[in-house]
Amino acid sequence: MDKINDLINKNVGDIYLKEPLSKHSSWRIGGPADVLIEPYNIEQIIEIIQYADLMKIPTAIIGNGTNLLFSDEGFRGIIVKLGNNFSRYTIKGEKVCAEAGIWTPKFAKILSDNGLSGLEHAIGIPGTLGGLIFMNGGSGGKCIGDIVKKIWVIDRNYNLISFSQKECDFSYRKSVFQDSGYIICKIELECEIGEKERIKSEMRNILNKRKNKFPLNYPNCGSVFLSNPVMNDTVAPPGKLIEEAGLKGYQIGGAQISEKHANFIVNLGNATAKDVISIAQYIRKIVYQRYGICLESEVKYLGELGSLRSLHEVGIIEKR
Ligand SMILES: Cc1cc2nc3c(=O)[nH]c(=O)nc-3n(C[C@H](O)[C@H](O)[C@H](O)COP(=O)(O)OP(=O)(O)OC[C@H]3O[C@@H](n4cnc5c(N)ncnc54)[C@H](O)[C@@H]3O)c2cc1C
Repeated sequence: MDKINDLINKNVGDIYLKEPLSKHSSWRIGGPADVLIEPYNIEQIIEIIQYADLMKIPTAIIGNGTNLLFSDEGFRGIIVKLGNNFSRYTIKGEKVCAEAGIWTPKFAKILSDNGLSGLEHAIGIPGTLGGLIFMNGGSGGKCIGDIVKKIWVIDRNYNLISFSQKECDFSYRKSVFQDSGYIICKIELECEIGEKERIKSEMRNILNKRKNKFPLNYPNCGSVFLSNPVMNDTVAPPGKLIEEAGLKGYQIGGAQISEKHANFIVNLGNATAKDVISIAQYIRKIVYQRYGICLESEVKYLGELGSLRSLHEVGIIEKR
């Protein structure tokens, strides 16, 4: 902790010490981070990362924590949260630019207010735009990558570099940014001029469908296991397989396979990361035994010491 005193005296954003990560997780799970910083601009992000590298302090970048499971032990280093403080945007005709921390549903609504079409499918996805790009998230067969024009990231040498849509190498829930160590900072999207009322009505329909389908009354992280169009067509989506295996309602500690949607693991109140990991492993085992299919998770697990892995790759909790 002594190591970060210098950083606290610098102007790098809002700083929180021993911050419970459960406050930054849609699962409401996670122990304390030594430090959590919410920077306001690119210069501050670079300053934090440069300092942490120099002092050999682990760092992790997060958005709204809606696709992340934090360790019960928290994080021994600096969490850099790109959220509200880093969420300015500009709109010039069909060209829109936003900082990575903007909340996706809010941005989708702003675009619809401006008669711009392209982000309707993301109206119910509760993370930041940076997180959405990282995951190439989307719904109803659409992905954010479809309308990306350009992305600016901070690379490992602390330079701000840009990626064209092609260079982002988007595919189903994948982008070049996963495993790259790059920090997504600014996003340019290419929207289409649309009819405001049509855009808004499509968004209302999407929100209604999601409300009926998803267990939104308990903390969760959205769909845990990856579905993809090929798997959907040839076998079934993961939720269907888990449901047919009779696992709805199955519980370990405070974590439960949702009664409403079997691809959701909900926190009934006191779930730990260990509960979620155990239940995810159990689901994978049963689905494999029954169907011979190895489910993969879209949720990432951030270990106490900084490792970032897909949830299905987590065996035992990270050792010191
Ligand atoms: C109720 C619910 C419904 C959901 N529905 C959907 C859905 O329909 N479709 C869908 O695709 N997803 C869905 N999700 C999952 C999630 O909301 C998305 O993946 C979202 O885009 C993640 O954004 P985030 O800001 O919360 O990212 P986080 O969870 O904070 O981070 C996710 C990953 O992105 C990385 N990351 C985040 N920001 C940056 C950045 N600026 N630079 C570099 N790396 C970064 C993190 O390190 C982490 O590995 C749902 C989640 C919930 C809780």
